[in-house]
Amino acid sequence: VAKIGFLGLGNMGAPMVENLIEAGHIVHIYDVLPELRAPLVALGAIDALTPLEATRDVDIVITMLPSGAIVRQVYEGPTGIFNTLDCRGLLFIDCSTIAPDDARALAAGATRVGAEMIDAPVSGGVRGAIDGTLTFIVGGSSQTLEKARPVLENMGRAIFHVGEHGAGQTAKICNNMMTGILMAGTAEALALGVRNGLDPGVLSDVMRKSTGANFVVERWNPWPGVDQNSPASKGYAGGFKLGLLLKDLDLAIQSAQSSKAAVPLGSAARNLFQIHALGAVENVGMDMSIVQSLYYPISIAESVQQPALMLPRGN
Ligand code: NAD
Repeated sequence: VAKIGFLGLGNMGAPMVENLIEAGHIVHIYDVLPELRAPLVALGAIDALTPLEATRDVDIVITMLPSGAIVRQVYEGPTGIFNTLDCRGLLFIDCSTIAPDDARALAAGATRVGAEMIDAPVSGGVRGAIDGTLTFIVGGSSQTLEKARPVLENMGRAIFHVGEHGAGQTAKICNNMMTGILMAGTAEALALGVRNGLDPGVLSDVMRKSTGANFVVERWNPWPGVDQNSPASKGYAGGFKLGLLLKDLDLAIQSAQSSKAAVPLGSAARNLFQIHALGAVENVGMDMSIVQSLYYPISIAESVQQPALMLPRGN
């Protein structure tokens, strides 16, 4: 049993905490939004009113936060963990998706205060977090990974050690660029089919068994009602916020610029999602599969009220 401080209880963090509690760990939790803590406290988590309170009596700190700027503030800020806590002997696991340079700077900071750190961004989405089947993509030393492994295994299934500090983030960014491209491509294909008289569910079944098969069409269908478990069938709530995907696509483009790689499809996907974000501010907080409505006038209200397979209004 480990004593864990967990910071960031959003779409991913909350179900990860649930799995840690179920595995028997003592989990101290903190999020800037207090309403996210109560349901986890009911399951056995220990409430903390500040990040310091959540981390001062633990062996392991896990962070699952929105952006590199926030992660750095939480660890390195004037009231951050490195500056307020006796960090000697602690293990820090950052599961957020952030820039590789930020991950390297944080790991160096951890070393300076006598702690160890790995970047361990995840893949598998909210469903992977709930099912405890996340993929962890780890950068850092193998010795530190071995210390983290038992806890990672309580939240995920596959654990990849891809290289030194920051390498986990590099791999994660490549993966998410691919996810953005797949989401846009799948939404585009579904809208083309529907505009030509096809049922989106039937077309999805065809693609699942054909060369167009991919994770999005399998487990993240962007058309409301096709997959009852996908965010599209829940008013595009939960899931992976479009704003977070945009952050990752921006990270991919920054990586491409600094390494002189060409990412024409990643750039196209980034611009497509950015146009959608600029079109309506509420899209930013919705699951990224909301991009379907850029291709076709989906009725979000109908998608929640009538979860059965439906053909939305045409235009
Ligand atoms: P989210 O926005 O749902 O949750 C982030 C949480 O962090 C929020 O509850 C927010 O209140 C909290 N927070 C912000 N600042 C904080 C602070 N200073 N201290 C404590 N808590 C703070 O995001 P998410 O979907 O859970 O994603 C978290 C991270 O995981 C992101 O980096 C994202 O890119 C990555 N990720 C998300 C998914 C997904 O499918 N949602 C999949 C893989 C990776």
